[in-house]
Amino acid sequence: MAVAVYPGSFDPVTLGHFDIIERSSRIMDKVVVGVLNNSAKSPLFSVEERVNMLMDVTKDLPNVEIRAFEGLTVDFVRACGASVIIRGLRAVTDFEYELQLSQTNRVIAPGVDTIFLTTNLNYSYLSSSIVKEIAMYGGDISAFVHPEIADKVRAKVAGKDK
Ligand code: ADP
Repeated sequence: MAVAVYPGSFDPVTLGHFDIIERSSRIMDKVVVGVLNNSAKSPLFSVEERVNMLMDVTKDLPNVEIRAFEGLTVDFVRACGASVIIRGLRAVTDFEYELQLSQTNRVIAPGVDTIFLTTNLNYSYLSSSIVKEIAMYGGDISAFVHPEIADKVRAKVAGKDK
């Protein structure tokens, strides 16, 4: 069975992330979306909230599983019984960092390969940070995230969900 892990922060999941999840779920037998619990970053949403939001938007994709993880991505990949990491590439600005990451991962885990999916052109400019910034200034984020995610982001930046 071809199992892949799609790791990231997903703070929050955007339509760009969802596009990568949907496309990789058509290529692989199973895709585990790994939500990084990274104490060094200070995310807007807790890891549980990010996992729940991903579960919501992927509920119609039966071969997609959402799991939180900590530590090295390659250790999580092996724990999932996977040997493939999926990453999305938006622009050349992503390339250098992603190349370094995938080459490092191959040295520390030679059996694990990274597959890159290039972004859907509609979302090539889109990032979680942009969504958060627009929401903080009261802008309309409905073109960037699922409607239920937009509601959660608006409530969070307004401090209404505490
Ligand atoms: P990280 O903190 O690991 O960069 P992100 O949640 O920002 O986590 O992104 C996870 C993955 O999704 C990365 O491979 C990133 O390049 C990719 N990605 C992010 N936004 C988009 C997008 N709009 N289109 C395609 N891929 C994307």
